[in-house]
Amino acid sequence: MLKIETFTCNMLQENCYVVSDESKECVIIDCGAYYEAEKLAIEKYITDNELKPVHLIATHGHLDHNFGNPFISKTYSLPLEIDSSDAALVRATEKQAALFGITLNEPMDMDIKMFHMGDRIKFGSHEIEVIETPGHSMGSVVLYIKDEKLAFTGDTLFRGSIGRTDFEGGSMLMIIQSLRMFVQFPDDIRLLPGHGQETTMGYELAHNPYLDR
Ligand SMILES: [Zn+2]
Repeated sequence: MLKIETFTCNMLQENCYVVSDESKECVIIDCGAYYEAEKLAIEKYITDNELKPVHLIATHGHLDHNFGNPFISKTYSLPLEIDSSDAALVRATEKQAALFGITLNEPMDMDIKMFHMGDRIKFGSHEIEVIETPGHSMGSVVLYIKDEKLAFTGDTLFRGSIGRTDFEGGSMLMIIQSLRMFVQFPDDIRLLPGHGQETTMGYELAHNPYLDR
């Protein structure tokens, strides 16, 4: 049984997820916490629930999904885990900050551990499969927990829509190809996106113009 807590963070309303199971081990996905209060809320949730963070993961390298990583990395001695194709994006944060018109309040100076298509990330009695879905960025991924019928879609898929492809490294052609990876998902899978409300494969097949089987 998984417990998922959502923290909507920063000026871009990004979803950070803390996912734990009965072992109390947890993973932190897309820590976009920018403001002090956001960082402290995540830390408090982890402390109050006696969770042990074992992985800090990003679905892609855009700043709004990574602001809080130096804080989490330092607090729990974890490297940031991200797809090999987006590691460079995280390292080029100054450039990204200028692009977004945002001032960084903490440098992105944590260790980075790169993952690839098909890698498995373990916590408690669960396993997350990395599915590479380039298009929104070169290294965008979907994080799939098959046993729980659950996937974190980052900015590849939103409820009723898909992510922008007009940032550097983005490609409409690639995101359309990547969406083919979703055909393996059952209709009742929960899809948790990087922004906005959660959805299901069934809902997307009925309402999202970019998805079909
Ligand atoms: Zn993004």
